[in-house]
Amino acid sequence: MIEDISIPEPGPFDVVIGVTNAGICHSDIHAIEGTIQAKLPVTLGHEVAGKITKLGGQAKGSKEGDYVVVYFPNPCNECLRCLKGDTMNCININRRPIYGFGEDGGFSEYMLVDSRRLVRAPAEVSPEFAASLGCAGLTAQHALESAEVSPADTVVIYGAGGVGMYATQLAKLRGATVIAVGRNSLRLELARSLGADITLSPSQDALAKEIRSQTEGRGADAVLDFVVNEESFQNSVRQLRNGGKYVIVGVSTSKLQFNAGVAVAKQTKIIGSNSGTKSELSTLLELGRRGALRSVVTDTFQLTDVNDALDSLRAGRIRGRATLRVSA
Ligand SMILES: [Zn+2]
Ligand SMILES: [Zn+2]
Repeated sequence: MIEDISIPEPGPFDVVIGVTNAGICHSDIHAIEGTIQAKLPVTLGHEVAGKITKLGGQAKGSKEGDYVVVYFPNPCNECLRCLKGDTMNCININRRPIYGFGEDGGFSEYMLVDSRRLVRAPAEVSPEFAASLGCAGLTAQHALESAEVSPADTVVIYGAGGVGMYATQLAKLRGATVIAVGRNSLRLELARSLGADITLSPSQDALAKEIRSQTEGRGADAVLDFVVNEESFQNSVRQLRNGGKYVIVGVSTSKLQFNAGVAVAKQTKIIGSNSGTKSELSTLLELGRRGALRSVVTDTFQLTDVNDALDSLRAGRIRGRATLRVSA
């Protein structure tokens, strides 16, 4: 539903952002369908770049006109995990509201944001690119951190959508060999142009053969699963080397069948990975500024066409990532 609402007034620590771009994410569809709980009514949009138009009295470190990206997760910054810098394991994080779900997000001309939940964006990074780093890039970077991907590794990126395409590039920047798995040949072509060494459709035999030949029979060091269903799970865990890591990324309510004996014998590590840290978002913006990381935004819609954009994503018509262009 599209409606006129008033421009928000900032509280002491808040800023108001004039939204330039807001990315469209599968989590938006999960929120609409109820697989992610949202406060209702809510303005969706958690992948947001824009310019500060107004500041609260205590909003230090920012000024009007600053070009920023919203950091949408909401760790408390006070618990022991946060104080250790392990903010995605904040003990309070799943109770605290996040932008676009528990608090109003960026599918709007103006958005109210806590000034401590922003990262300054470099001018060299376009607003559509910067916005897409706020969730797609962040999720990919944190998944690679969770898997501790290092140069000699062979990494399988399962799911060649926008997040998988950032993960492909970021794994290459770490020196790993990347096997990207997806069903859509246009997406696989894009993944290859972004650095994937090998692209495959999810046929188990081809996957097993490729991974064996790349690793001299050992198996993959890590699989990052951006699809998460029974097929991706079974295809993934079987291809791991002993001690290999299976990383579940993003939102899924899938129930996975699991043979505990095989996991013990192979010392499989199963890791959940959820969005990412503010410092990871800063890293991504710097990689974008240097040109080391390339945008995967392929489709642009006007704000008023938000429902078309969501339909296109649902129907699998978005090749990389979709963005809403809100204002210049
Ligand atoms: Zn998202
Ligand atoms: Zn905390």
